[in-house]
Amino acid sequence: MDASASDVLVVGGGIVGLAFAWEAARRGLSVRLLERSRAAHGASIRNFGMVWPIGQPAGRRHDLAMRSRARWLELRDAGVTWAAECGSVHAVCEADEAALLAEFAERAAPAGIVCELLAGDEARRRFPAVARGVRAALWSPTELVVDPPRAIGQVAAYLARQHGVDVRFDTAVTAIEMPEVRTAAGERFTADRVIVCGGADFESLFPEVWAASGVRRCKLQMMRTAPQPGGWRLGPHVAGGLTLAHYAGFEGCPSLPAVRSRFAEQYSFHLAAGIHVMASQNDRGEVILGDSHDYDDVESPFDSAAIDEAILDYARGMLDLPDWTIAERWHGVYAKSTTDLCFMAEPQPACTIVGSPGGAGMTLSFGLAAEWWEAITRKRGLHPAAPMAGGVSLPS
Ligand SMILES: Cc1cc2nc3c(=O)[nH]c(=O)nc-3n(C[C@H](O)[C@H](O)[C@H](O)COP(=O)(O)OP(=O)(O)OC[C@H]3O[C@@H](n4cnc5c(N)ncnc54)[C@H](O)[C@@H]3O)c2cc1C
Repeated sequence: MDASASDVLVVGGGIVGLAFAWEAARRGLSVRLLERSRAAHGASIRNFGMVWPIGQPAGRRHDLAMRSRARWLELRDAGVTWAAECGSVHAVCEADEAALLAEFAERAAPAGIVCELLAGDEARRRFPAVARGVRAALWSPTELVVDPPRAIGQVAAYLARQHGVDVRFDTAVTAIEMPEVRTAAGERFTADRVIVCGGADFESLFPEVWAASGVRRCKLQMMRTAPQPGGWRLGPHVAGGLTLAHYAGFEGCPSLPAVRSRFAEQYSFHLAAGIHVMASQNDRGEVILGDSHDYDDVESPFDSAAIDEAILDYARGMLDLPDWTIAERWHGVYAKSTTDLCFMAEPQPACTIVGSPGGAGMTLSFGLAAEWWEAITRKRGLHPAAPMAGGVSLPS
């Protein structure tokens, strides 16, 4: 690659930046990726590692999730990173939640979504992590687990090694004037297309675009247990009743409004803190537990002990863990579009901002990037500077 010019330059080494870089490189384009930190340290390394198609509504979004899933498996099969086909269970304790799961299961099959409704006893027999109080469960085989803190770095290294992507860490981009990109160290690069994937950073590049975008930041609290003893495995990801009110996949189920009203009465603290409870397990045996959702404009650096306690208390009702010792706590922040799958804008010709796909970046980014590059390619062959119709606004 020319020392300073490339077909495509991606800003940001989180999952979105990696996905857009990979799709460009797969098309034979020369790609440079600039990440300001020594290693990616944003939302992409702070999440559960859940690839979660079941949470996406049937149709395009579910299809994008399944495309992403295929890409993760491709990475696993190429020996790039660990990924397991763990599936998921929604394990619920109340009758109205069980009715909602039954409604979902009935609508899922005709929409091509594979899942199975289980009575509590059957769920416990198949998945020992499901707690005694669970009344019903929805098993889905499609979910994957990856290990984000390692996977993100491994994918970046793979792009460099396998696809010749020029990945540079410690390289903050401070200004873009197409076709030129400038860094904090005073370097200048040029590219036919620049894709800005800066996650929840709304200040460094194009702050005026972000200010007008309506995109919000969301802070989530998370915890990780010590490795479970004796090689104990969680099996599938486990989600509880509160999750039914969280994911768009359950929208349209007739029982949802009534379940939401009960939650408002019974779980006012949880709803105010945006708590719904999920668990995943990495290959080291640690169980990752979360989360909360705080949409305050100014992100507090301080985490709430009450939120962590509420998450753990709820988790104990749906989950039996041999060891609940919490080894680590942290929070992460993502950007959330209130209208679209993710925010996209073209502030300069052939310069595209791609926002985070909210709480589903690990689930959607590979599919989203593939869809976007296909749209560009349809428009004007492989020329990376080809504009999208009406600016760039594929997601909705
Ligand atoms: C706690 C938590 C749990 C989640 N759980 C899941 C889950 O289980 N499954 C799922 O699908 N999704 C999950 N998500 C959502 C998912 O993690 C995000 O959607 C995704 O990581 C966003 O990726 P990103 O690349 O947009 O942002 P980031 O990962 O934040 O990456 C942006 C990168 O850009 C870099 N950058 C910014 N500005 C510049 C600049 N000027 N120059 C150079 N570099 C720059 C930053 O340093 C950063 O590394 C979760 C999110 C959180 C916070």
